[in-house]
Amino acid sequence: MSGQSAASLQKKRAVALPTEQYLSWGRYPKTVHQHVHRPAWNDQLPDILRTAAPGSLLPYGLGRSYGDSCLNAGRELIDCRRLNRILGFDPDTGMVRCESGVTLSDILEVFLPKGWFLPVTPGTRFVTVGGAIANDVHGKNHHRAGTFGAHVRQLGLHRSSDGFVICSPDENPRMFQATIAGLGLTGVIAWADIQLKRVAGPWIDAGAVPFHSLQSFLDLSRESDGRFEYTVAWLDCFGGRNTRGIFFRGNHSEQRGQNSRPKWGPKLPFALPAVALNRYTIKAFNSFYYHVHAADQGASLVRYDSFFYPLDSIRQWNLLYGKSGFLQYQCVVPENNLEALEEILDRIARSGMGSFLAVLKQFGSAPPAGLLSFARPGLTLALDFAMRGEPTLQLLRSLDEVVRQSGGALYPAKDARMSPALFEASFPRWRSFVPCIDPTMSSSFWRRVTEAE
Ligand SMILES: Cc1cc2nc3c(=O)[nH]c(=O)nc-3n(C[C@H](O)[C@H](O)[C@H](O)COP(=O)(O)OP(=O)(O)OC[C@H]3O[C@@H](n4cnc5c(N)ncnc54)[C@H](O)[C@@H]3O)c2cc1C
Repeated sequence: MSGQSAASLQKKRAVALPTEQYLSWGRYPKTVHQHVHRPAWNDQLPDILRTAAPGSLLPYGLGRSYGDSCLNAGRELIDCRRLNRILGFDPDTGMVRCESGVTLSDILEVFLPKGWFLPVTPGTRFVTVGGAIANDVHGKNHHRAGTFGAHVRQLGLHRSSDGFVICSPDENPRMFQATIAGLGLTGVIAWADIQLKRVAGPWIDAGAVPFHSLQSFLDLSRESDGRFEYTVAWLDCFGGRNTRGIFFRGNHSEQRGQNSRPKWGPKLPFALPAVALNRYTIKAFNSFYYHVHAADQGASLVRYDSFFYPLDSIRQWNLLYGKSGFLQYQCVVPENNLEALEEILDRIARSGMGSFLAVLKQFGSAPPAGLLSFARPGLTLALDFAMRGEPTLQLLRSLDEVVRQSGGALYPAKDARMSPALFEASFPRWRSFVPCIDPTMSSSFWRRVTEAE
């Protein structure tokens, strides 16, 4: 490569990024960092950690968390994206060892043609392995496979206090459990061993079924979970407790479809004016979306990317919400408390601040993989709200009341504003996590919800 190493080329490219560009996916809050480290090799991490002040650092993946859990306002980030090498693979077992900046998209690109798929995937493939572990992300197969962390067999962690530590269920099990869903606070994950799963190919036998109440969603979910590996629903949240929606379900297919190349859609070039998304445009979109899928029900063979990642086809779709950004609200409420979910939907409908991306899923009963894992038995609802200042925050506070009274929880990966009291109610074990925190690590989220310095 004309006398220049790949590493030095990468270094040159990375220098151009100003620190202000390190935002989260919701683009709220707008945070400025004091400094961003961009290591190209794992062996640069010990130096960064050794010279850091207490509470000054936080690892950063692809910033696909919506709120402030990947931000460290006024302090420093370690951008892990250049730590992106696949270090080993066992073709007999499907075990892959990769550095933490490898993305789920990279794994699919390399291993799907060889017949291996991700054990769990969130609704975007543009997530790093480090980020997927640190939030212990879940997908449409939670009822079968649990969370991403349940498929991590071992990981290497750089810590300022104890150097490089190997963690697994057998070796340093406490640190292993704390690092899964550890919000980047236990140290920097250098690499992880992930168990991939065998599939016949990139095709999914998919179906879409319309439903007209939360009870009928629950009936469909219970009936489908035994037969389908992947289940999730989209909701029209303008109907309040009389909601309607589309239940999507699917299995990996042995059949081959026609087009095997992923389709890339448009890229939003800049933030749209705030008025572009309002109750009328969202209502119209929801009605259109419902009728298209309700008419289209029945089984079809679709590529994995359109089944798992419909949003990835519009690059930078987060700019749709305008310059002020948006908030995602993802809660889980106990399954026997359908009234709580009805009340949440009622409050949203009454506010007129509907969301066109409203997703509902019944979690399974898998035990939590991490000390602070969010996924737990119950119904999880995720909605997006354009950030319109106090009226938006007021609505979300009123939803918090319902979640708290129901014994539910909010998801840190999506949060930019939950109170310390709601965090405590959501994660009552958080104090037993504190001894595992690396002394050099902190985040905007953590300081907010624990009122730490
Ligand atoms: C369109 C979309 C759909 C989504 N769907 C889902 C879904 O279905 N289910 C779900 O669970 N989530 C979902 N998410 C959220 C997303 O999966 C998580 O927020 C994920 O953690 C983001 O990973 P990231 O690589 O962007 O990490 P970041 O957002 O940059 O960071 C996330 C956390 O990981 C930590 N971290 C990053 N790298 C390392 C490292 N090397 N060592 C230690 N800690 C590290 C950071 O400190 C931070 O705490 C979705 C997000 C989007 C944008």
